[in-house]
Amino acid sequence: MTMLVVGNWKLHGDWHSNAERLAALHGHGAVVPGVTLAVCVPMPYLQQAQQALQNGAVAWGAQDVSAHATGAYTGEVSAAMLKEFGARFAIVGHSERRQYHGESNETVAAKARAALAGGVVPIVCVGESLQQRQAQQTEAVVLAQLEPVLQALQQDAGRMVLAYEPIWAIGTGQTATAEQAQAVHAVLRARLQQDGASSVPVLYGGSVNPGNASALLAQPDIDGALVGGASLVAEDFLAIVQAAATPTGH
Ligand code: PEP
Repeated sequence: MTMLVVGNWKLHGDWHSNAERLAALHGHGAVVPGVTLAVCVPMPYLQQAQQALQNGAVAWGAQDVSAHATGAYTGEVSAAMLKEFGARFAIVGHSERRQYHGESNETVAAKARAALAGGVVPIVCVGESLQQRQAQQTEAVVLAQLEPVLQALQQDAGRMVLAYEPIWAIGTGQTATAEQAQAVHAVLRARLQQDGASSVPVLYGGSVNPGNASALLAQPDIDGALVGGASLVAEDFLAIVQAAATPTGH
């Protein structure tokens, strides 16, 4: 399977620093066989990403998408609008949106469906808090997050991307061990398989960096990475991409 490495820039960047980072990726992205590479940029910079990356090997996308196609939804951006700027992906249900914007599992499912309907691939994030992990609820939590998405997408479920992002590992420098991540990925894969969607790429996210990427990406059910902080430094991001190009478990 082709590996997928996606950068999530979050609320970072400006025109000048973006231009430098995008140029570094564009120059390099064409020469990484076996890896699809993408960056999810803040909405206003989609056109900048499109201009810098078009006709290259690096895809781009957004960090959110509206559950609605059109209408009186101030501040929202539809999948069709993203598509007009060449976006291939939209992150959906990132834990920061669940936490700070009150997105429920059902909202996330509606956004995933709207993304696909508009021609954009949703990268659906699931993950447990530290408290939930300590209470042995990890499996139940991620499956409960995934379930409404599978129900909403039905036979289109195979067209999404899933990302396992333990909340306690996001932006903390405390990554899941390869074994911890693989165990959850295997559970997610088994659930996808029940719906005939076992080929959905399942990415790991949470403090992935050039030092830990190889071990994580070598796991049989880890098909790539969703990278926050390290995606802001082109050389670190490209080192992770390089690790994805030479995994041993796939
Ligand atoms: C993320 O934002 O999805 C993420 C995984 O962040 P970080 O790599 O910084 O932990």
